Formats: sequence, structure tokens, C-alpha cells
Amino acid sequence: VFVVFEGGDGVGKSTQVEQLCTALAPTGREVVRTFEPGDSVLGAKIRRLVLDPETGDLAPRAEALLYAADKAQHLHAVVRPALARGAVVVCDRYVDSMLAYQGAGRVLAEAEVEQVARWATEDLRPDLTVLLDVDPRRAVHTKVAKDRLEAAGETFHARARASFLALAAREPARYLVLDARRTVEDLAAVVSARVRALLED
Ligand code: C5P
Repeated sequence: VFVVFEGGDGVGKSTQVEQLCTALAPTGREVVRTFEPGDSVLGAKIRRLVLDPETGDLAPRAEALLYAADKAQHLHAVVRPALARGAVVVCDRYVDSMLAYQGAGRVLAEAEVEQVARWATEDLRPDLTVLLDVDPRRAVHTKVAKDRLEAAGETFHARARASFLALAAREPARYLVLDARRTVEDLAAVVSARVRALLED
């Protein structure tokens, strides 16, 4: 079972990933907690490259291809082997982040970025995507805007948010869209109930 958390920067994805992994412990299932970009040996190097301000002006297509390479390697080295063992894989960001940031957020056509992302992942779709949604004007300022992307500003994040929501609207059965301003405990309870239902299927 493959569960993904998506949403803008600073909405609490990693907190909810952790909450879900803790909630799943009593099920006795193997739980693999992972993230993109960067959770493979190659991926960690790609993450450093792509987020390092010293890389300088990164062509949007080069950036998209680096994220795609991270995904291809992550699936190959981490996600597919774990799913093959029967593990529950809980991943912080996946294809939707690429479509929202490299597609809608930047200048590339979303449909083209989607083709690249689907090719890189052989169109492996999560069983459930939890979208933590909040107005970026509230989220962006909750943590220091350190890197290049976070410096990109409000319109970038507003476009990304709209893209996340549009993706969820396309496949509502596979998404759980939650207001990220709800309490940590409240969100965790809703998510774990949904995932437990999936595990019982
Ligand atoms: O989720 P995490 O904080 O690890 O992401 C690191 C940075 O990479 C964030 O600023 C996020 O906006 C950016 N990112 C991106 N495109 C992706 C995934 C993450 O620009 N596909």
C-alpha cells in the first residue's frame, strides 16, 4: 500500500507522515517512511544540487529532469522493493509536487511535466494521496524562507496550491483533501482511519 502526503511548504506534511507511521505500528505491517526529493543515494545528491543556491540559475527543464531522475531512482531503490515486500510505504511528496512546482509553479506546460513524471515513475500511482491544503499566505510565513524556492514568493505558491487542488479534483476517490489548519491530532485521526480502511480492503 502506497500512501503519499502532498501540499505546499510548511503545511505539516512531515508531522503527519510521522503521526501516520506511529499509528500504523500496532498493525504489525512493515512501514517504510520515505520522502522526495532525496531519499536514495543518488537522490540525496540530486537534492543537494537542486536546492543549493550555488547551483545558480537552473533551467526549468533541467530542474524538472533532475526531479524526475530523483523519482526514478527512488522508486527503483526504495518504493518498489518495499511494496513488493508487502510494506506500507508512506512518502512525503511525490509526482503531484513535481507537477505543482516544476509545472504550474514555473514556466513549463503542466501536461509536458506530467508526461515526464509519469514516464519516470512508470505511472505508479499512490493508493491514497493526502493533500494538506492551506492558503500559502498562511503557510509560507510560518518558517524562514531559506532557499531559492521559498524565496520565489506568493504567486508561485498560489499557483502550486491551485495545481494540487486540481489534481485532487481529477481523481477524488484516490485523494483525501484536508484543511491543514486543523489540529495535528485531528488530522492524524482522519488520515489513520482512512489508511486502516485501505489496509482492510
Ligand atoms: O518537502 P521538502 O521541504 O523536503 O522540499 C524541499 C524543497 O524542495 C521545498 O522548498 C519544495 O518547495 C521544493 N520542491 C520542489 N519541487 C519538488 C519537490 C520539492 O521545488 N518536486
